[in-house]
Amino acid sequence: MKKTIRDMDVRGRCVIVRCDFNVPQDERGEITDDSRILASIPTIRYLMDEGARILLMSHLGRPKGEADMKFSLLPVAKRLSSLLGEDVLFHSTPSVVDDRVRDMAAGMKPGQVLLLENVRFRKEETKNEPSFSKELAELADIYVNDAFGSAHRAHCSTTGIAEYLPGVSGFLMEKELKFLGDTLENPKRPFLAIMGGAKVSDKIPVIENLLSKVDSLIIGGGMAYTFLKGQGYEIGKSLLEEDMIEMTASLLKKAKEKGVTLLLPLDVLTAAGFSNDEKGVPYDIDRIPPDRMALDVGEKSMRLFREEITKAATIVWNGPMGVFEMSNFAGGTRAVAEALADSEGITVIGGGDSAAAIRQFGLAEKMTHISTGGGASLEFLEGKVLPGVAVLQDLN
Ligand code: ADP
Ligand code: MG
Repeated sequence: MKKTIRDMDVRGRCVIVRCDFNVPQDERGEITDDSRILASIPTIRYLMDEGARILLMSHLGRPKGEADMKFSLLPVAKRLSSLLGEDVLFHSTPSVVDDRVRDMAAGMKPGQVLLLENVRFRKEETKNEPSFSKELAELADIYVNDAFGSAHRAHCSTTGIAEYLPGVSGFLMEKELKFLGDTLENPKRPFLAIMGGAKVSDKIPVIENLLSKVDSLIIGGGMAYTFLKGQGYEIGKSLLEEDMIEMTASLLKKAKEKGVTLLLPLDVLTAAGFSNDEKGVPYDIDRIPPDRMALDVGEKSMRLFREEITKAATIVWNGPMGVFEMSNFAGGTRAVAEALADSEGITVIGGGDSAAAIRQFGLAEKMTHISTGGGASLEFLEGKVLPGVAVLQDLN
């Protein structure tokens, strides 16, 4: 367990918080989705109420270590001001920290908030160079990491700064660690993992880690076809990673040794090519024609997966069951999402596309937890210690 802001006396002290304000913007720079800003509010509000002086920092996009104003955090400062109903101080400077920023930080009253410019304006940031970490640390007394989505990167603002300041987690980080961490370490059983997405090669470390924790594992999505090919099925033009066939066979063997029930699709929905032009023709997996491509799982698979989901007390899901971006091939992913929504168990979602699919179906509110960190949640599921988490102080 990591310490949180609740475990620190922050009154009158300067607290620097790493947030994830990496929001999507349109061509005019308008923020198109402010959910990441909204997600940071509980931590900021708590620090305001406790009388801390609050510095916020984040990256936005990939400015490549230069002050490219396209990536300025000014729009975020404005949106945050209106969401908080309080002025948020902001000073745009290519160096992120300068004398003006130092003066502003030193002059803040308890409860005041100052947002720093995009930390990736400095080339040191992504190289985790101590010089910039020190500049940031010298502004404050306490470091708070609330950017779970960036915690798998060892950068100045996520990791380096904790060399010079005591580091604790914010509420968003706490929630991620609780749901992803506790779920993996102390799951209520039966524990089911559902894996999908495009490539097996992306997900092997996740599958390997989960195999030693779960009671059953569903494999769907594009990656299922390499597994099926390895089992001797003809998969037509479906997604195949030749060089992963052996690996899938050894994962199946490992599942057997560990007593993990492993479920693969029984049937599929196919198209002539990678397109939404046709409704899709269903085939059992031993009948896939050589000129067809499986873009989703079929009805029998959905039934099988739904039954397994109903039995489970804990479910972790990563990766869509089919090409959900195409309306004709979203059915399998929707069926799994709906079964999770109906489940009385704990449901945790990791992965950017899986989270997007659930939002698209309007089922986000029905899940126990949807991780805000795509890449970070995957590394967590791989069993890796994230550098931005490792630097935070342990409770006792
Ligand atoms: P996540 O972001 O949740 O970790 P991934 O990035 O691994 O998920 O995979 C998502 C992608 O997998 C989606 O864009 C989806 O279209 C693709 N996908 C799923 N099933 C198939 C399939 N049968 N053939 C090709 N692509 C697929
Ligand atoms: Mg993805």
